[in-house]
Amino acid sequence: MRQSYYHWLPDQQALMLEQTIALAEINSGTFNVTGVNAVADRLIKFAVALGAVEQRIELPHYRQLTDRAEWQEQPLGQAVQLRKHPDAPLQLLLMGHLDTVYGADHPFQQICWLDAERLNGPGVTDMKGGLVVALHALAALEASPLAGRIGWRWLLNPDEEIGSPCSADLIARCAAEADMGLVFEPALADGSLAGARKGSGNFSVRVTGRAAHAGREHHLGRNAIRALCDFISGLDDLNGQQAGVTINPGYIHGGGAVNVVPDRAMARFNIRIEQPEDELWCLQQLEHLQRQIRRQEGIQIELDGRFGRKPKPLGPHLRLFERLRQIGQELGTELSWLPSGGCCDGNNLAAAGLPNIDTLGVCGGAIHSSDEFLLVASLAERARLSAALLFELAQDDPVQWRREGR
Ligand SMILES: [Zn+2]
Repeated sequence: MRQSYYHWLPDQQALMLEQTIALAEINSGTFNVTGVNAVADRLIKFAVALGAVEQRIELPHYRQLTDRAEWQEQPLGQAVQLRKHPDAPLQLLLMGHLDTVYGADHPFQQICWLDAERLNGPGVTDMKGGLVVALHALAALEASPLAGRIGWRWLLNPDEEIGSPCSADLIARCAAEADMGLVFEPALADGSLAGARKGSGNFSVRVTGRAAHAGREHHLGRNAIRALCDFISGLDDLNGQQAGVTINPGYIHGGGAVNVVPDRAMARFNIRIEQPEDELWCLQQLEHLQRQIRRQEGIQIELDGRFGRKPKPLGPHLRLFERLRQIGQELGTELSWLPSGGCCDGNNLAAAGLPNIDTLGVCGGAIHSSDEFLLVASLAERARLSAALLFELAQDDPVQWRREGR
């Protein structure tokens, strides 16, 4: 192991912390387009010394069902790609997301120290700290004599926190041109990585009925709320019927004045699956439930959504995990991995057939809550781990890692 190539990384800790805070100070809730683009601008400034070719990519608008059960299109921030050494024999795809779950109107906007080791702030761990880890690992590689032995594309998307619906095609295209993927989502607090991951689908449902005066013509109305509730009950009853499948009705809205039979109602739900074949089972159940609702005269039901993230079984990624574990041992870090019910862009890379590790970011906890915290020492530690991985891959025989057919 060429210690000398990255011995300077621990000295970067103060700078890494400063950069993480600078990124976390910009609100970048997924729908805060200005904020998401501002995070990209700042990160690109930090990354200027890498000398990569930069490209900003407009994504299709996000289509969402509003509370009024109407379809609405929303613009998203740009995706960004930084690329270097595209002709090197081994090509890596690094991934990070610019968005967070905290919108501009969310109460959690401030960064504060919980104690000497832990920083609390929106996105410090998921994943602005991870962006900084990737940046410094790449900087270590590019400053070393091994620069140019591996090529890399660093893809930053603006919509990971809503399931990457609009960047999914771009991710798949980039994955097709790479030999392996490195994603900088947070590790667990003890440094464990996520191994196998569940798959996930987000769905919206809209029910339309017929409005009528609740007193004078109640019998003429067709109550959309009642029909939607029937559908949701059927949906929730599917829990427990197929091992590893969970269904979560997560949002519901409908109706208006209580003296009107409501003609519209909508809901959103999420489904998690463990096995690829669960997807078909779920889709058949959804079809069946819709058919039952449609039997009611005067009621229409429309479903939209898909399994944007397929399950990620560990098998195809194990060799890369084992390589990283070996590198960790040489650095004095014991690495282990655990299955996770959560999903991320590592699922998308896996679906595109790309071996990947998707929790190379910082250590911390309570992500997606106002208690989100970063273990600040992990910034330099994890940059060192990723840099070491890059150094070792640069010295491995590229044929060993190259994907067939690339
Ligand atoms: Zn994340």
